[in-house]
Amino acid sequence: MDIKNGFVGAVGNTPLIRLNSFSEETGCEILAKAEFLNPGGSVKDRAALYIIEDAEKKGLLKPGGTVVEGTAGNTGIGLAHICNAKGYKCLIIIPDTQSQEKIDALIALGAEVRRVPAVPYKDPNNYVKLSGRVAAELENAIWANQFDNLANRHAHYETTGPEIWKQTDGKIDAWTASTGTGGTYAGVALYLKEQNPGIKCVVADPLGSALYSYVKTGEINIKGNSITEGIGNGRVTANMEGAPADDAIQIDDKEALRVVYQLLRKDGLLMGGSTGINVGAAVALAKQLGPGHTIVTILCDSGSRYQSRIFNPEWLASKGLSID
Ligand code: PMP
Repeated sequence: MDIKNGFVGAVGNTPLIRLNSFSEETGCEILAKAEFLNPGGSVKDRAALYIIEDAEKKGLLKPGGTVVEGTAGNTGIGLAHICNAKGYKCLIIIPDTQSQEKIDALIALGAEVRRVPAVPYKDPNNYVKLSGRVAAELENAIWANQFDNLANRHAHYETTGPEIWKQTDGKIDAWTASTGTGGTYAGVALYLKEQNPGIKCVVADPLGSALYSYVKTGEINIKGNSITEGIGNGRVTANMEGAPADDAIQIDDKEALRVVYQLLRKDGLLMGGSTGINVGAAVALAKQLGPGHTIVTILCDSGSRYQSRIFNPEWLASKGLSID
């Protein structure tokens, strides 16, 4: 028998998929963890589960308690599923730049959703800071604090990293992923470097994010912007702090979209924009390393969360973008 124990038991152990069209084009093995197949639909289910179970173990989250978080959507969706499965309440503070599909999912899950204006991190009304204050004012509530709570990267150090190592039989030359909190990138990079320090770990970054310049020069320098959601950061979070990074690759929206549409049309995979950045970086890395290498990345979430955006030609045109 192979039975998963409820929602929680079904998180993780996702397939590692060979991206055929990109592998054939580059002569490398481009492999991707199918995180969109987690039961809540994204890579963030793992972090949400570890954050909640860590708070339970520390006695911070008690029966009937509330989990509060500031999130671009996927962490909130993961938390809301787990709260329902474990009997907690969920309060999500989300910037008003995020897709309606993710907000609708949160409402359907019964989370209390507060949409707030998207303002920079240094502003006291930034959604992350606001969520910390709201949690502190509520009785029997915890702040998930995904950006700086290390339970996030532990999830990937203890599950995603070992799964990749096992699924590739240790035959992996490079790892690349974009970062929102940095939990996925850092947890996997820390684990893989421990197994084999020769594995090249490369941060993938959209425009408008600080990580590319930070890895390249040690300085934070933000230029441009991106339509991708859930990734890019103006600062180095606690989850990214000390993460091994041999290099960084910047991918613009035009290239990310080209990749997302190739995944859809040639590989049959309907993916969100952050996956376009990830696979775009894997392809760029394949070109740098040359044929014969194995590169692993993440399929973060499904394109169904962005139907009204990156799969809507009118919305794309409003952003000055188009698809051939
Ligand atoms: N892609 C999407 C769509 C996301 O929502 C997130 C998380 N915000 C990420 C990638 C990045 O994951 P992490 O927070 O582990 O860096």
